Amino acid sequence: MNHGGFFFSFRYTYEVSPVFLLVEEAVIKKMIEFIGWEEGDGIFNPGGSVSNMYAMNLARYKFCPEIKEKGLSGLPRLVLFTSEECHYSMKKAASFLGIGTENVYLIKTDERGKMIPEELEKQVQRARKESAPFLVCATAGTTVLGAFDPLDKIADICEKHGLWLHVDASWGGSALISRKHCRLLHGIHRYVNSVAWNPHKMLLAGIQCCALLVKDNSGLLKKCYSAKAAYLFQQDKFYDVSYDTGDKSIQCSRRPDAFKFWLMWKALGTTGLEERVNRALALARYLVEEIKKREGFQLLLEPEYANVCFWYIPPSLRKMEDGPEFWQKLHQVAPIIKERMMKKGSMMLGYQPHQGKVNFFRQVVISPQVSREDMDFLLDEIELLAKDL
Ligand SMILES: *Cc1c(COP(=O)(O)O)cnc(C)c1O
Repeated sequence: MNHGGFFFSFRYTYEVSPVFLLVEEAVIKKMIEFIGWEEGDGIFNPGGSVSNMYAMNLARYKFCPEIKEKGLSGLPRLVLFTSEECHYSMKKAASFLGIGTENVYLIKTDERGKMIPEELEKQVQRARKESAPFLVCATAGTTVLGAFDPLDKIADICEKHGLWLHVDASWGGSALISRKHCRLLHGIHRYVNSVAWNPHKMLLAGIQCCALLVKDNSGLLKKCYSAKAAYLFQQDKFYDVSYDTGDKSIQCSRRPDAFKFWLMWKALGTTGLEERVNRALALARYLVEEIKKREGFQLLLEPEYANVCFWYIPPSLRKMEDGPEFWQKLHQVAPIIKERMMKKGSMMLGYQPHQGKVNFFRQVVISPQVSREDMDFLLDEIELLAKDL
């Protein structure tokens, strides 16, 4: 019986929602193909942050399986590594899981925001003397700069030291669908144990739609998370109980998030999804080229992905000498322009300071409804709103 709140909810066992469970399995299989693994497992989660937390816990379970019964007491000090450009969910996960934020070692990035593999190697070697490293979290598509960590080199280090390698591809994972841009994640098919990928970002699946993909296909995910509730997951059912996949989740009832992706995939086809990615990146490229042409606009860095980060230097600052005073003044410009655009109601554009860089605008273009004219408008409008600054 379906009523009210149960409608469209995804339950835990095959007998209750056979179609949604099969759809989830099919979508996960397809995503694994795009990663390039021969086999794997996975689960849809409410958000990339949650996928990262699942991965961190799974890596720890693999490292010390007895933790499931014994808990944290008696464990050595576990440490993990990620870059200083990582998503903040890494810290949240470490604190929630009892690992502790101080045991998240932030590895230095280069001028483009990519993790420096040599720094990782150094930190792992140092940490091994005094603690128990168990995990490296690389980022494919960082949140602010859109940088891709060098997965091949990081994989070599993880392989050498026997560390779990998780890739937070929440933002950048969708590039895997594009034959033109999948090289950004080169190496992901190799020594990578898990991947977080949010189709609700670049591919624009209905929010929320996020998967954690795991290379292990021997049931690690289920072993780690299952509680084997006897009232749902009876082992003596008449059908193949491996289809009762709900016990891989920390949730009980779940929404059928995979269905959103499945439906979109059926409607647009793989080519349609690929076009979404290509179009978004082509538009970002257009914006970059326009920024380079216009006086007063300055890119922070040459972007790899759809994150276009730039400053607008208003007329009064253009003749100023480069120095602390210039940067301090420039820092105040973006908030003023933002206030003006919001009060006028013309557009909304995010800004932030980042890693010692003063406030800059960050335009991420993903909507297929946005055109080159909109990009021109964006730049015209900034010029217009800031001409007296
Ligand atoms: C957006 C993002 C996340 C978080 O995803 P949510 O679905 O918002 O929880 C994690 N990592 C990266 C790199 C992201 O860009």
